[in-house]
Amino acid sequence: MLFFLEDDSVKTTVKKYLTRIENNKKLNAFITVCGDYALEQAEKVDAKIQNGNAGKLAGLVISVKDLICVEGIKTTAASKILENFVPPYDATLIKKLKNEDAVIIGKNNLDEFAMGSSNETSAFGKVLHPLDNSLIPGGSSGGSVVAVASELVRASLGSDTGGSIRQPAAFCGTVGLKPTYGRVSRFGVVAFASSFDQVGPIGKTVEDVARVMEVIAGKDVFDSTSSPEPVPDYTQFLKQDVKGLKVGVIKEFFTEGLDEEIKNSVLTSIEKLRENGAEIEEISFPFLKYGVAVYYILTTAEASANLARYDGIRYGYRSKNAKDLNELYVKSRSEGFGAEVKRRIMLGTYVLSSGYYDAYYSKGQKVRTVMKKEMAKLFEKFDCLIAPTTPTLPFKAGEKVDNPLAMYLNDVYTIPANLVGIPSLNIPCGKAKNGLPIGLQVMAKAFDEGMVFRVGNFLMS
Ligand code: GLN
Repeated sequence: MLFFLEDDSVKTTVKKYLTRIENNKKLNAFITVCGDYALEQAEKVDAKIQNGNAGKLAGLVISVKDLICVEGIKTTAASKILENFVPPYDATLIKKLKNEDAVIIGKNNLDEFAMGSSNETSAFGKVLHPLDNSLIPGGSSGGSVVAVASELVRASLGSDTGGSIRQPAAFCGTVGLKPTYGRVSRFGVVAFASSFDQVGPIGKTVEDVARVMEVIAGKDVFDSTSSPEPVPDYTQFLKQDVKGLKVGVIKEFFTEGLDEEIKNSVLTSIEKLRENGAEIEEISFPFLKYGVAVYYILTTAEASANLARYDGIRYGYRSKNAKDLNELYVKSRSEGFGAEVKRRIMLGTYVLSSGYYDAYYSKGQKVRTVMKKEMAKLFEKFDCLIAPTTPTLPFKAGEKVDNPLAMYLNDVYTIPANLVGIPSLNIPCGKAKNGLPIGLQVMAKAFDEGMVFRVGNFLMS
């Protein structure tokens, strides 16, 4: 049985999704739709199905965030600086998807270089929330999540540096996993902050996400930070209940600033775990309050180094009106990057500059190390932690885009998992009175994706 097969042929499925994508253009969830490419792949997969040698993902029609390289298909990172960049190779995880016969149908819109929480900073226009078009869908993987929520694809891939999979997943009511740092190869993924970035799957069910994850995870010789830890069969965890599990609830996740409806919804889910035999314990993790500050020091530092390569020489946009080499660099970068990306590059350059390095960057690294150690201690005692994914419901487009601090604070609950490198799964856990989705996240120790799937699936069933 092929789990992902939806119709009598994969070609039919691709056509079905292409029509839906066409009918939902207004949401702006895609930067590139590669219809012919998808139909061609579908034909090959259909032939393999006929021959009885199709891969695990045969039938799956998937889209990927437009910062993941697909050979021969434009990859822009939603930036003018890469608007015409066509990668000459596939990211490792794309190779893995193709090897198992998934069909890639398009490249999803995102915040420029994945910097943002609202999907308003894309050079290709903002993405709309499918339930209320005046709201933001979350970001930066907004296009990927909206594509899944609106059933324009069965699943998609996003990236999560500080919450970019989980926050839009919470806002739009989908499942989304940020894997353990090092679980998925970053080779062929446009870098934002290399010690934080992880690609992960988004789907409507935990099972869809788990099955895609199993394929994309694993060691890659082209990414020295990818882990050799064996990848288990994740579906085995979906059948397990929660009896006897030790669940930690960090009280600092439930303090001021948390929307009352989100709080109640998450507490109801925690109660469900208790009723089914899990042991719940409230604990304190006072380091949470440093998370946002440390994240925006360290990620901007890494971004300023990573984005130095866009100089108008080797990649992408080149200014046409420069008189000498120096001006070519300056003008290409000034004209090619958007405002938020420039803000991050400047902030990152500042925290790395001599005189401020010790005060900011080096101190940030130390706090990160302490948080990692303290979090590891928590997992000596607990199997998982449950927390809200976002402090608020989806907000209005335009509401925070001119107030970077307010925007950054929206990441307060998602950032800790990235700082310490652990897996975290967003699942929908209820709806607000106005009908908007609410999400919670399940976190576990590094490489225990099985645990977050187990608890997440239990809560959704
Ligand atoms: N919103 C966060 C930021 O702007 C997270 C981004 C991400 O995870 N890619 O940095």
